[in-house]
Amino acid sequence: MFVALPTEAIRELAEAHGVCVRPVVHEVTDTVTGRTKMVCTPCGATLASKCPPCAQKSRILRMQQCREGWHLDDEPPDDDEHADPDSNSEDEGPKAARRVRSTRRRQDVPDLPRLPVDKRTVGSAFTSPAGKTYRPSMFVTLTLPSYGPVQPDGTPLHPATYDYRRAALDALHFPKAIDRVWQNLRRAAGYQVQYFASVEAQKRLAPHLHAAIRGAIPREVLRAVARATYHQVWWPAHVTPVYTGANTPAWEDESGYADPGTGQPLPTWDQALDALDDDLEATPAHTVRLGKQLDIQGIIATEDDADRRVAYLTKYLAKSFGQVLGESDDLTRRQKAHLDRLHLEVRYLPCSPRCWNWLRFGIQPDGAKPGMVPGSCPAKAHDREHLGCGGRRVLVSRKWTGKTLTDHRADRAEVVRQTLLAAGVEVPDFQRMSAHVTRDDGRPRFEWKIWNALEAPTPIYRQVMTRTIAEKLRWKADYEAAKARASPANAPPRPPDSQPISSGAAPVRGERSESRSDTKCP
Ligand SMILES: [Zn+2]
Ligand SMILES: [Zn+2]
Repeated sequence: MFVALPTEAIRELAEAHGVCVRPVVHEVTDTVTGRTKMVCTPCGATLASKCPPCAQKSRILRMQQCREGWHLDDEPPDDDEHADPDSNSEDEGPKAARRVRSTRRRQDVPDLPRLPVDKRTVGSAFTSPAGKTYRPSMFVTLTLPSYGPVQPDGTPLHPATYDYRRAALDALHFPKAIDRVWQNLRRAAGYQVQYFASVEAQKRLAPHLHAAIRGAIPREVLRAVARATYHQVWWPAHVTPVYTGANTPAWEDESGYADPGTGQPLPTWDQALDALDDDLEATPAHTVRLGKQLDIQGIIATEDDADRRVAYLTKYLAKSFGQVLGESDDLTRRQKAHLDRLHLEVRYLPCSPRCWNWLRFGIQPDGAKPGMVPGSCPAKAHDREHLGCGGRRVLVSRKWTGKTLTDHRADRAEVVRQTLLAAGVEVPDFQRMSAHVTRDDGRPRFEWKIWNALEAPTPIYRQVMTRTIAEKLRWKADYEAAKARASPANAPPRPPDSQPISSGAAPVRGERSESRSDTKCP
């Protein structure tokens, strides 16, 4: 029945038609009828190197999220159930866990104008003499300072004097500095400024931030905030390593890590912080400031410019941070040396209180346990792809749209469903097999079990993929036909990418809430 295509060809075909190339296959058992079905859910990868179709879908979803929140006229719903769990909740974050001892060194508030912060998140509207109302917003780019002059290819003019240590520390602490920007901006602008921002690498491999900001803020206020904002890192000093090479602290069962020569236990993380508190001469281990380069643009919702900016903001999301210079093979010798040198620096600096690299500086990491080796901390920040930026690439404030990504995904699926319904095309009810459907006795009707693809023989992968692609093509045809049949006057809105998307079934299970029953397999 199926043409026996080689696996590689099927993968290419799947990519060409926007079908996930490495779906998770579930075996779903209907406990009422006893029947079993194979159901695929897409892998949901955000990097194209892992799955191009899923990365593209994820980017499109982010574009929709960005577009929807940027020029809101009304306050978004403020309801915790719909708060994006991925969003930054810098105002509402748990404060209890924060260490309270360092009150003496609480961050100074920079010298900035302070206004009472209004409860609103929506910017002001302006009416033109012709009676048209505008609600302008902004597009802002924040950068880090210079670490030494660079050439057009991003490499230092004088590699020997380029400040790699500062570049690495700034990258590691960049998100905290950005949090401070938003806090200071809200106080200075007098309303709950909302943003959709993406962290990208510049050619010199330092992170910078592009942000869509709702509402217009005077340029002078933005400049003053960028100039005055800083973040102090109150960690133990970590300038000169105490243990290097094979001379590394050894684990003792009683006291944790100890000096390999003397057997003397190293101070624990808490002891190190206590010593820092008691030292009246201590200075922050590092202070992040922003660079002078600050790009500010006013944006009007109705202009094409807004859409161009949305595309720009999400342009590199499917690429890893370090890929900004291109694939490894394409790098010049100078670029490769620059990348290697920066990687060396981020590899051995501490990324967090729990970082294994604290052992290099004679301190036991927070939560020390056996097996920690300096230079091998598993946090993403240390690897060549991330170069210090191991955190989230997209930063969205809590009240940007007041919706989760799952809500946005469901919105998109609904557009397709409505288009098909309007044209009289039957919409398959994927919700039918959701894990939330219950039987009369209240127990879940459908049992979902991950089908172990590693143990699966290749022909089954082929079969599953071939059917998924065929399903996708049918959907595409149905959707295009439905769109064509819909009269232009009452046509439903086009989904932002104008590609067909499959059903928006309810999340299958907690841990896979990002995926959905995209396509049914045999
Ligand atoms: Zn995928
Ligand atoms: Zn680390």
